[in-house]
Amino acid sequence: MNDFTKIQKMKNMIRFIGTGNAFSIKNNNSFDFQLFAKENNLARFIYEIPMTTCKEFINGVNNGINIKDDRYIIMISHLHEDHVGGLATFLQYLYFSLGIDIYNKDKLIIICPNKEEMKDYLRLTMGGNNLNKLNIIDHLVDIEELRDFKKVKIIPVLVNHVEGINSCGFITKVDDIISFYYTGDCNNIPEEIRILFNNKKIDFMISELSDKPNSVHLDISYFDKYFDAHDIENGRIIFTHLTD
Ligand SMILES: [Zn+2]
Ligand SMILES: [Zn+2]
Repeated sequence: MNDFTKIQKMKNMIRFIGTGNAFSIKNNNSFDFQLFAKENNLARFIYEIPMTTCKEFINGVNNGINIKDDRYIIMISHLHEDHVGGLATFLQYLYFSLGIDIYNKDKLIIICPNKEEMKDYLRLTMGGNNLNKLNIIDHLVDIEELRDFKKVKIIPVLVNHVEGINSCGFITKVDDIISFYYTGDCNNIPEEIRILFNNKKIDFMISELSDKPNSVHLDISYFDKYFDAHDIENGRIIFTHLTD
């Protein structure tokens, strides 16, 4: 399989669970993809779990999708509710309804900009005696032992969003061949990421987009300034977090 085919395959594997912003009446922004891991179970990579994502999963399971044996790698860009508002319920659903050992460090990983804040958040919204056992990390992580691809590397990148809140985007590298950047919510894309993207060292980007100029989000004038319009037209830049 050549690199272009692999990149297309990767893009086709990404499923948008929702593309709306915080005030969407349909679904908030969230997406996932799955890779085969050892012993035929799936590694499921989920980016953002607002409440609407949690409901989608429960609907899927109620309609016969088996997610019981999956490994979960969850990326949360920041603690705004349209990004994390379903996480506590989702974890409780896995644990209590599906009997999944979310405290097994290999079974579930949460990657976020600040692990102490995430623990505080889950202490308030979920509670329980085992919170310290959750595998919450705020740094680069390598995930190996995947069958279709040799390795997935996730690199959180701190970004500016709202004063006083820690926020990050994520570089995801699959098999050292395919890579994409997800912006999270932000008012800028760090220069080093723009250089990597414009030099095609990052294959594609999933970016938030605000329909109005806004001090805490990106709008189209930002892309006009820093990126080639062709990259929007040909799908190298995919927009999400959109107004209904
Ligand atoms: Zn948001
Ligand atoms: Zn936000």
